[in-house]
Amino acid sequence: MCILLALSRDSGGGELWIAANRDEHLDRPWQPPRVLVEAPLVFGGRDLAGGGTWLAANLDAGFVVGVTNARLGAELRERSRGRLVLDIASERSLPDALALLAEIEWPRYGEFNLLLGDPDMTWLATNDPVPTIQRAERPVVALGNDPLAKPGERVRAAAERAGSMAGLAGEALAGTLQALLADHDGVDPLCRHGERYGTVCSTVLTLSGRKVASYLFAPGRPCSTPFQTVVLPVA
Ligand SMILES: [Zn+2]
Repeated sequence: MCILLALSRDSGGGELWIAANRDEHLDRPWQPPRVLVEAPLVFGGRDLAGGGTWLAANLDAGFVVGVTNARLGAELRERSRGRLVLDIASERSLPDALALLAEIEWPRYGEFNLLLGDPDMTWLATNDPVPTIQRAERPVVALGNDPLAKPGERVRAAAERAGSMAGLAGEALAGTLQALLADHDGVDPLCRHGERYGTVCSTVLTLSGRKVASYLFAPGRPCSTPFQTVVLPVA
């Protein structure tokens, strides 16, 4: 995945909004969000080439995990970043997921940025340039194809625009995030079009308390593919 935004909000019992575009080689096979693991119930898209996922929600425990390559063209190593997301999302709780993350063999993965969060707390991890796990400063967190400590213009601009949405809620916020993901501003826009590589799908989901309250998914470029409401299995 190539841009991942997380917005924390205080409303109600607390909300965490995730807005993300997955950028990939256009011919890399994948499946739209589905049940990935039965117990605990883990839901997300499946990368059929690597067997993992780019974004997963643990519906039983109420947390999400997402990953971006920390560099465009980040090299593949012997372990799959997408499998890492699936493994971490399959833990029983966010603290358990965090503990597993702390135990991984970092150099065996290509460069990645990873987000692990629920409405109460968001954690960021990376192995580029050195293994790091840190609690995120909220309310807006943005991950892209740059090292976490050195976000590029694309990531900084997206974070700034997401930060300006503090006054929005509900459908207005969902719609504004969808429009942001579909944006073509700048030399490296959030919605990437390429002949062989580009944005292949897009997600806007909301965690409210310990529940995924809404899950919107566009199975193509978000500028031309309508977001649809994904029906979730009962946790
Ligand atoms: Zn587009």
